[in-house]
Amino acid sequence: MTRRNCLVAFVAMFSLTTFAQSAVQVITSLVKPGHPIPQECKAQVETFRSIEALYPHPNTWRWVVVCDDDSWRMFLTQAHLQAKLLTPGGAAEYGETDIDHGVTFLRGTILSKFGTLLSISNEPVITAEHLVTHELAHIVLRSRDEAKVDAQAMRWMKDRKDRIALAESQTRNTAR
Ligand SMILES: [Zn+2]
Repeated sequence: MTRRNCLVAFVAMFSLTTFAQSAVQVITSLVKPGHPIPQECKAQVETFRSIEALYPHPNTWRWVVVCDDDSWRMFLTQAHLQAKLLTPGGAAEYGETDIDHGVTFLRGTILSKFGTLLSISNEPVITAEHLVTHELAHIVLRSRDEAKVDAQAMRWMKDRKDRIALAESQTRNTAR
């Protein structure tokens, strides 16, 4: 099977959300197909949506939240991405964007506020915001250059922080 067919076969499980422009699907081994999506997965999707809304994002894209780490390992195996796991902090540890096919896979435990945020290789875990902005940068820049993409993600996050700090200082000044 080509890599693309692997991915498509793997994601044909659950579909979620009709309200938004880009589709979000979830994959989880925690529940059988046809059963309701666990609350934990829904919360991960909500976290993703709230972060996505804060940053430049595509109008049409397919997002797949892989809710639990067993499913994430299964995904990496099926997508032949295990080699990337051997690189500590490698991108595939947290997310994978396929620019050509318009799909991004996110490791759900990073989006979960309640999950134990341990990476597979026990490296420090990135924040949900960093994960989402990094994958958004791949999409918006249409780039596979990890250094360039991550620099963009860091700039977006810093700009947002600066805007918040500025707004707060203006509020303080007005209140005086
Ligand atoms: Zn990347």
